[in-house]
Amino acid sequence: MRYLSTRGHADRKRFCEILLEGLAPDGGLYLPESYPKVDAAALTRLRQVWQNQGYTALAFEILSLYIDDIPAQDLKALCDKTYTEKVFGTAQIVPLKPLQSAGSAKPELYLEALSNGPTLAFKDMAMQLLGNLFEYELARRGEELNIFGATSGDTGSAAEYAMRGKKGVRVFMTSPHGRMSPFQQAQMFSLLDENIHNIAIEGVFDDCQDLVKAVSNDLDFKRQYKIGTVNSINWARLLAQVVYYFAGYFQATQGNDQTVSFTVPSGNFGNVCAGHVARMMGLPIHRLVVATNENDVLDEFFRTGVYRVRGTSDTHETSSPSMDISKASNFERFVCDLLERDTAQVNAIFGEGLSRQGFFDLSADPRFAKAADFYGFQSGKSTHADRLKTIQQVFAKYGVMIDTHTADGVKVAQEHLDPRVPMIVLETALPIKFAATLVEALGRQPDRPPQFEGIESLPKRVTVMKADLADIKAYISKHCD
Ligand SMILES: *Cc1c(COP(=O)(O)O)cnc(C)c1O
Repeated sequence: MRYLSTRGHADRKRFCEILLEGLAPDGGLYLPESYPKVDAAALTRLRQVWQNQGYTALAFEILSLYIDDIPAQDLKALCDKTYTEKVFGTAQIVPLKPLQSAGSAKPELYLEALSNGPTLAFKDMAMQLLGNLFEYELARRGEELNIFGATSGDTGSAAEYAMRGKKGVRVFMTSPHGRMSPFQQAQMFSLLDENIHNIAIEGVFDDCQDLVKAVSNDLDFKRQYKIGTVNSINWARLLAQVVYYFAGYFQATQGNDQTVSFTVPSGNFGNVCAGHVARMMGLPIHRLVVATNENDVLDEFFRTGVYRVRGTSDTHETSSPSMDISKASNFERFVCDLLERDTAQVNAIFGEGLSRQGFFDLSADPRFAKAADFYGFQSGKSTHADRLKTIQQVFAKYGVMIDTHTADGVKVAQEHLDPRVPMIVLETALPIKFAATLVEALGRQPDRPPQFEGIESLPKRVTVMKADLADIKAYISKHCD
């Protein structure tokens, strides 16, 4: 298996070469040269693997189709080490929960539980594997890596919980001082591992991001201190997510002649892009429904063919904050497939075109219609009022509490139900992470998993700093010896 850049760079790379990299040298994203196909016999076999051996074995089978530069027994060991009941809370790892009202013949929809990992959001599903892959590959090369990132919540904590205690990796994570929820701060700052450095910046999230950009642009510093990232465009993260589309499908169906649809609460298009990959491999997915919040860049594209990135003033701060994006960083992968891998055109519209005019328009391109007709995409959007209403409705009807992001998914899923096809909504976080909005909707605190009792009063390890590049560089260099 070789990987190519969506923008047409001539290099072809193997999995472990792109594992520790972010963007391709031409600014594009990596995609496999072609998607391995899972035919009827292979799908039957994978269903048996899932039923008899569970998630880790399924993960190993699917990852093996894309990773041919890690010996099979090592990859198997990495999967076994990652997807454990201890870390993810259940033996099934991603159990399906039917939402069914009393007296009805079948569930209205299913929630696929992806949020029972250490940080209670679906990003753990991929990040936990990434932590183990990084440690493995760095040891093999005898190298070290310093991850420098910015977070307003979910991504940073998932990265820290994945990398804590890993050999060869340090994490320097900036966050806006005093702006994360008390629960999120407690989650991150209570990590006392020596290789995890929390840096609270006196400023807003953009100040943190500017520091990350400034450091990545300083090539000498970057090279000297082996600075890397773990952002959502990493192919290994996307690949890890493909597995749970298969696991969701096997749980919702009895046989492989059936199809299912997925609704995915979306921001950077990483999660639903994994669904697209699963569908391209031949998993019988009928629809992939993209659910956005008020930041509806993606919904706009699927409705109109126009992709228009938003400025800072156009980007809303919402009650499903992990979907507050101004552009969808993984979207280029799907567009590359939609344009039949015409990488010159991808380069033109995403490279210069987007930075010059801030949008591209495929509405007149005959290939745009294929987004729905051939690739199965549909979309919808949800607002704060919808979110509250959906949280109330799901609690009243099914006695189940859902978080704000999952609520956006359920709201949009309900607009795309088809009585013949089971609908699976991906549960991307647990309600306790967004307690304030849950209280607003239900007038009560969400349930707190026992392992999180009292985390707000644990000792914290965080350094508060000004948004000053020289200070940050000095801090990194001091902690790299
Ligand atoms: C990251 C995140 C999303 C959005 O996922 P993308 O892969 O960026 O589309 C949705 N919900 C939650 C809770 C998240 O943390």
